[in-house]
Amino acid sequence: MGTIAVYPGSFDPITNGHLDVIRRATKMFDRVYVAVARNAEKTPLFSVAERVALAKQSMRGWPRVVVDDFEGLLVRYARRVGARVVIRGLRAVSDFEFEFQMALMNRRLDPAIETIFLMPKDEYTFLSSRVVKEVAGLGGDVSSFVPRIVESALCQKLGVRRKGGV
Ligand code: ADP
Repeated sequence: MGTIAVYPGSFDPITNGHLDVIRRATKMFDRVYVAVARNAEKTPLFSVAERVALAKQSMRGWPRVVVDDFEGLLVRYARRVGARVVIRGLRAVSDFEFEFQMALMNRRLDPAIETIFLMPKDEYTFLSSRVVKEVAGLGGDVSSFVPRIVESALCQKLGVRRKGGV
């Protein structure tokens, strides 16, 4: 059996920063589960089904990627799918404290599971789903931050017209 990794997150919605991390992960692991969290305490813009669908459409044809959703403890989900590795993205020092805390907690919960951090291409280090939603909601052009399908979904959901692309 090959090495399996889980990349968990809210993905509300998936951005080019997430996709960059996933592409890097697929070069290192035989299978990467992109796992959309059901139990994020924040109020999401997109439903779990919508977030899963947008992720699937954004990675159509990508080898080694499985899009899924999960509820409850991440380490339990990782065990269930046979993953020994959790992938997280690190953009800036500001991500570090929270990510460090989560990684150590997950290690305490299941010492067999390692967390690995991947850094995106520098042009994505300022990208977050929250900022993309804010910019799109204010009518800004997000076409270079998210795939076309996500841009359309954002504009539809937020009731604004598409700005970028052709
Ligand atoms: P969370 O709900 O924990 O913020 P997200 O769904 O936003 O999670 O993202 C999941 C993971 O992807 C996190 O590890 C986050 O740091 C990382 N991430 C988010 N945006 C980017 C980006 N632009 N570049 C690299 N990693 C990112």
